[in-house]
Amino acid sequence: MKSSLRLIRIAGIDIGVHYSWIFIFLLLSWGLARAFFPGTFPGWDTATYWVAGVSAALLLFVSVLLHELAHSLVAKARGIGVQSITLFLLGGVSNLEDEPERPIVEFAVAIVGPLTSLAVAGICWGLLGLVADQQGPLAAILAYLALVNFILAAFNLLPGFPLDGGRVLRSILWRKTGNLVKATNIAANVGRFMGWGLIAFGLIRIFAGLLDGIWFAFIGWFLSTAAEASRRELTAREQLSGVKVKDIMATNPTTISPDTSVADLVSSVFRRQLGRAVPVCEDDRVVGVVSVTDVKELPRERWEQTPVSEIMTREPLHMVSPEDDLNTALRLITKGDVNQVLVMDEKRCAGLINRADILNYLQLTQELGLR
Ligand SMILES: [Zn+2]
Repeated sequence: MKSSLRLIRIAGIDIGVHYSWIFIFLLLSWGLARAFFPGTFPGWDTATYWVAGVSAALLLFVSVLLHELAHSLVAKARGIGVQSITLFLLGGVSNLEDEPERPIVEFAVAIVGPLTSLAVAGICWGLLGLVADQQGPLAAILAYLALVNFILAAFNLLPGFPLDGGRVLRSILWRKTGNLVKATNIAANVGRFMGWGLIAFGLIRIFAGLLDGIWFAFIGWFLSTAAEASRRELTAREQLSGVKVKDIMATNPTTISPDTSVADLVSSVFRRQLGRAVPVCEDDRVVGVVSVTDVKELPRERWEQTPVSEIMTREPLHMVSPEDDLNTALRLITKGDVNQVLVMDEKRCAGLINRADILNYLQLTQELGLR
């Protein structure tokens, strides 16, 4: 993910924090050191409040990380690739490469996160009983961690998709009906209703003069948006799954030779609207891809003398076969953060397929009610 800072790598998974998290971390440390701990545990000196505040905020971060790691490690054990974990403002996101293929796998991957948080809450609660000074910083941090991990487990167990509880609900419905799309629709609708409920609850609190209502409304808005987005994504994925790359790609692909000048490329391809990118081929062999973006980086006065080979992308070239389905192509485009992938028929270049082609196809199927 682009807007995140990579921290470490655990079990082959990149762990990163979203930039917004740093701001929340500072805000949280400050809130704990200046308001929560002094209000609940009076009588320490200022430095102790700060040390306790920063430690508790860091340990909350570790708690969220443990929750996400549990999801990722179970997914990996069940054969699902895990790219990375990004820790956000409201928790974390494990970026799984695929959706689970069976209800039981989805159930296991989803439930293990909240169970981990509950276990951490239980351990902190148990340790709290062993601390001699119940009004000291150690007791305060343990009590805080027990509380937030419990809240983390409880919130994530709410049965609205895409929360963990919503995934559990979806896996049960999926198992009962045998229909993933139907199960997702129901679980996502529960998520939307819960989101609206939280927004309404938040607004009532705001009107009653309680400012924490903003948080409830914000989380509710986040939840209903995420539910709708997940539902749309799955619908799109379903629509793309049965369609092959060769069904929607142009049959006579434009290609260009590496020694063509950039000026010729612009006049013979880009001006004629034959696409925003073309494969560069030498004796029927693909040597690169050149796009409008590559041309933009070259000063105009050099277009005449510069050959395409100098500005084209050589590596890495992302490829699909004409027999692959559109999901595979879209996944490569998203994963490589590129606009198009090459379509290779054996060793021969059959064309390009880009993000816009796939999105246009989706729009077309929805407009014409295909499938
Ligand atoms: Zn979770």
